[in-house]
This record gives sequence, structure tokens and C-alpha cells, in this order.
Amino acid sequence: MQEFISGYEAKMIPLYKDYQLASWEANVNGTDEAWARNEKASVAFISFFTDKNAFAELKELKESGMVKEPLLARQLELIYNMYLQGQIDTSLISQQAKMETEINKKYSNFRASVNGRQFSDNEIENILRNSSRSDELQAAWEGHKMIGPVVADDIIRLVKHRNKIAQQLGFSNYHQMSLQLSGQNPDDVTRIFDELDSLTRDNFAMLKGDIDTYFAKRYKIDVKQLQPWHYQNRYFQEAPEIYQVDFDKYYQNQDPVQLASKYYAGLGLPVDAILAKSDLYEKPGKNQHAFSTDIDRAGDVRTLDNIKPDANWMNTILHELGHGVYSYYNDMSLPFTLRDAAHTFTTEAVANYFGRLATDPAWMNYMGIIDEKEMKKIEGDSFKALRLQQLVFSRWAQVMYRFEKAMYENPDQDLNQLWWDMVEKYQMIRKPEGRDMPDWATKIHIALYPCYYHNYLLGELLASQFNHYVKTSVAKGNTEADMKAMGEYFKTNVFMPGARYQWNEMIEKATGEKLTAKYYAEQFVQ
Ligand SMILES: [Zn+2]
Repeated sequence: MQEFISGYEAKMIPLYKDYQLASWEANVNGTDEAWARNEKASVAFISFFTDKNAFAELKELKESGMVKEPLLARQLELIYNMYLQGQIDTSLISQQAKMETEINKKYSNFRASVNGRQFSDNEIENILRNSSRSDELQAAWEGHKMIGPVVADDIIRLVKHRNKIAQQLGFSNYHQMSLQLSGQNPDDVTRIFDELDSLTRDNFAMLKGDIDTYFAKRYKIDVKQLQPWHYQNRYFQEAPEIYQVDFDKYYQNQDPVQLASKYYAGLGLPVDAILAKSDLYEKPGKNQHAFSTDIDRAGDVRTLDNIKPDANWMNTILHELGHGVYSYYNDMSLPFTLRDAAHTFTTEAVANYFGRLATDPAWMNYMGIIDEKEMKKIEGDSFKALRLQQLVFSRWAQVMYRFEKAMYENPDQDLNQLWWDMVEKYQMIRKPEGRDMPDWATKIHIALYPCYYHNYLLGELLASQFNHYVKTSVAKGNTEADMKAMGEYFKTNVFMPGARYQWNEMIEKATGEKLTAKYYAEQFVQ
């Protein structure tokens, strides 16, 4: 195994770095040449894992059961999964890519038609958020839902195709394969989602009652007449704005980068080296979103942002630097494969943990953004807004996870009905009478970003579990010493272990318990 790893690293690491750098350049500069180089580097990296001889060698090592030294065994598990994905028939892969491109084009070209006018997704969202006329809302919502019939049959074909690939590799379906290859046991994930469902159901029902009362008043209708288009959002995935705290005004004269940098330095986790390599502000051709990337797993960590002085970008830079410190403060003595996060959702959890601070009045006071009087004034509504946001999102993530799981188990069932069964059960929104449309197909993630959505919610649960552990066992207050203790805690227990342990083992070592929904419930359900 050691010998295999030496040969593997010598060839793979340069391909990995090329790919990361090319992707960085393409996102920063956006030129056609940069995107072409990125595609080439990506193909070179992915093709590396199609090597049949290398896979046969790994398979033999795995089946021998003789690789027992923990670090070697863990590397075997991770590298084996990388190669396993590379063993799919190349013709099946290119067919899949073709199907995905076709569907992608249909989504991109679709414009909702409302009373003869064409509307983009953003325009539809604007109408849903701002209009208070039911007929207008209904027309916008129904107009947007017309993408469903355009792509539904294609998606079902794609789902069956993905299942065929999974079955070729020995998995029962694509959902099972995706989770297992990322190191998640689907039964564990379902158990956590069940736990969260039972912990949040009653509280959500209560808050949903408040939301309904608010909307009935806003639209001047009876609560019983509320329809899916009344919730200010195409999917009711975000909380409606029923509590008014304007966080942006606190940040309009602040420098989010300087605040974040000062805060992380206070934790004993300085981010200067990360910021020096990063690309922080808007420019033409650049990716308009934000991400963080580890170029070489040896200290070249960067984040791409488009920072403006507002609450959203304060959250984003804290979030991205959360990913950043996770990578940067990894244990450099670990082998390359293990100098990574325990799972994508564990790094998401750390990023969320720090990102949430941007709208936390206690943090804003600690950083000198608001005084104590202001903190007291907005504390109540800030908490209510965050709680609503979390609960609404958690119920929506339930729909996504359970729908996808059931769809891959049986793509021939009545998916239109399955979707509304989930929406009614978890989001507590009634299906419009007699509706039989592929509304599930209107959510692009189902088609093009499959079997990943649940990780967003697992990240939130773990952020709350960290929060509980830090508050009770590491840093009870807000002193400088508390901050240092917290930084040290994350560095030693979460960042430095890297991918050395399976994610649930890392979580248990770091918090004394395996991943649980109970601290999320403790924080947001009362
Ligand atoms: Zn993130």
C-alpha cells in the first residue's frame, strides 16, 4: 500500500494542482482561454482515475484485508473510492454528460411566461417577494412551474441512466452510490433526518401558524385560502421577512475583510497568508459568487469573493475564511490524501459556524460594530429571524432528501404525487386542488446537482453541535482568552485531524458525541 501511494502521489499531485490553479484562473479572469485550460486540466485529473491496472491493484489490497495500519487503511478507503468512480464505462459517462448538458440548456433558455410577457427566475422571485395581489402571485408561480413539463421526461431518463451506472458498480441505485462513495451510510443520514423531523415538527407547525397569520393579513384572505404562491419564494426554501432587522445599515461604514481578519487573528488563527493570495473584490469577467479553495494542501489557500460593505458579504467572508482556516491549519505531516476535511459537510459546518456571527448581535458588539444598547434592542428579533430561517430551511431540506431518495429507489412511481406528499408533510403547504404537474422537476438541483442537498443541512446541524460544545466546554464567555481557547479547540480537534478519521468518528472525538440533531433543536426550537 505504501508503495502504491508513493507512485500514486508522484503522478496525481501535479494533476491536482494544475486542475485547482486552472479552475482558480478561470473563475478570476473568465476568459475563454482560461475556461478551456480549466476543462483540459479537469479531464486530465478525472481520466487519471480510469486506470484499470491501478484499480485492480487497489482491489486486491482491499480484499486481502491486510492493510491494517490506520492511516494506510484510511487512505486505501479514500483512494479506492476515487478509482471506483473512474471505472464506469466511458460511453455511459459521455452519454450522461450529454443528457445533463441538454437539460441544462433547457433550464437556461426557459423564461416564465406571464400574461404574454417573459420573466427570468430573478424577476419571478421579485414578484413573489413584493406583490400582495393573489392573482399576480399565482400567475408568476404557475408561469415558473411550466419548466416542469419541459424537462420532466428528460430527468426521468437521466435518473434511470444514473441508476444503470450505479448498478454496474454494484450499488442498488444512484442515491445509495453517491452517499456511500462520499463516505456516508444512507441509513445514518436518514436516521438523523428522522430525528430532526421529530424534534422540529411541532415548533415548525407553530411558527408556520404565525407565518400564515401574517400572510393572511398581508393578502387580505382567510388562512384557509393560502396557496403555495403566497410564501414569497418559489419553493418556500427561505424564511419570509416577517421580522424586521436591517443588518446592512450596521455594515455600510465597515470593512468586512478587516473585521474578519481581526477576528480570526484573535482566535489565534491568522488569515493574512490566505487573504494575500485571495481575490476579494468585483471585476469584469469574474465569478460573481464566492468560494474557497485549497490549491496544493500545503499552505496555498485562497478565497474568491465580491465583497461589499453589507451583512451578506460579512457573513460570506467569515464563511469562506472558515473553509480557509480548516484547510490552512491542517496537519502538514499527514499524507496528501488525508490533508483534507473529514467530509465536505464538516468544512461547511465550520464555515457556517463562523458565517452565522455576521448577524449575531453579541458578536457585533464584541467587534465594536454596535454598542450594548443597540445589541439589547435587536437581540430578540435577530434571534427570531435566524430561528425562522433555520426551521424553514430544515423542513425544505427534508423534502429534497426524501424525494430524491424515493425517486432513485423507484423512478416509475407517481413522482408528481410523491413531491406534493413530501411538501405537505414537511413544509405543511397544501397542494393546490387537483394539481397534477411535475413540480419536482422545476428545482434544478434534482436534475443537475443530485444527491448533495442533504449536506447543507448536515452542515447546519454540526455547526450547532460545535456551538453547544464550545459554549459549554471550551469558551463560556467572550474574553480574549475565550477566543484563543476556541481557536485552539477547532485547530486541534477539527482541522488538524484532517481526513484521518471517518467524519462521525472525528465529530465524536471533537464533541463527545456522534452527529446529532439535538443541539440544532436546542438552539432553534423552543
Ligand atoms: Zn461553504
